[in-house]
Amino acid sequence: MKLDGKVALITGASRGIGAAITLKLASLGCNVAINYAGNIQKAEETLQSAKSYGVHAKIYQANVANYEEVEDMTKQIIKDFGRLDIIINNAGITSDHLMMRMDQEAFNSVIDVNLKGTWNVCKSVTRFILKQRSGVIINLSSVVGMSGNIGQANYAASKAGVIGLTKSLAKEFASRNIRVNAVAPGYIKSDMTANLSEEITAKVLENIPLGQLGEVEDIANAVAFLVSDDARYITGQVLVVDGGMAI
Ligand code: NAP
Repeated sequence: MKLDGKVALITGASRGIGAAITLKLASLGCNVAINYAGNIQKAEETLQSAKSYGVHAKIYQANVANYEEVEDMTKQIIKDFGRLDIIINNAGITSDHLMMRMDQEAFNSVIDVNLKGTWNVCKSVTRFILKQRSGVIINLSSVVGMSGNIGQANYAASKAGVIGLTKSLAKEFASRNIRVNAVAPGYIKSDMTANLSEEITAKVLENIPLGQLGEVEDIANAVAFLVSDDARYITGQVLVVDGGMAI
């Protein structure tokens, strides 16, 4: 799996799964555009680590929920790197509440970042990649988008929406040699899951046949496969990476 000379945009790449994907792609020779929302220190750390692989890398601050910011960013990336081959829509947030206590702000903010943010990035690059007649898009969904989850009506809806978006774009873009797939992680150790109580973690573990939470690298490895030519005949799929939780 070599990605020499390719250019990837990874959203939400300052920390967690996004940072791991960035470093995995960089280790395969891919140049990386590292998007982040506000944590410039973490984004700089990812940048330095990516550069240690000898690739071209740059950081871009933009809120994926804001279309104008996204469009400015993708235009700048194409100007800086001259092309864009791989787009990883990874930026995501949670705002968990039982429905009784979930207000509109909690619903809208999660939909805006996770679902609209994914659409924003796809929309802003569509004209360019269709003209280029090549490209790969990976959207981060979640097993929760398929199963639902107590306290996550907003998050589950956003991640189910990401699957519908992925399959629709896979059908629309296939004739231009562009593949679109989703990856659905289970429970992965990151800041997003760091606040789970010991009790909840123990309950989650009971439902994971492989008996452990996932590492960010487990997702990065799956993404690296899907963006590579080894996956050239795979499009419109949801690759579940969850230790067997959803079986
Ligand atoms: P994380 O550790 O909380 O990191 C979130 C990343 O997204 C950060 O880089 C953050 O940037 C960025 N971000 C947040 N809001 C943004 C915005 N509006 N615009 C641009 N970037 C934004 O999360 P993670 O666990 O790595 O999750 C990554 C993806 O995997 C998410 O889509 C998540 O839903 C999905 N996922 C995770 C799990 C899991 O168990 N961890 C399971 C299923 C799916 P800053 O650092 O600048 O704030």
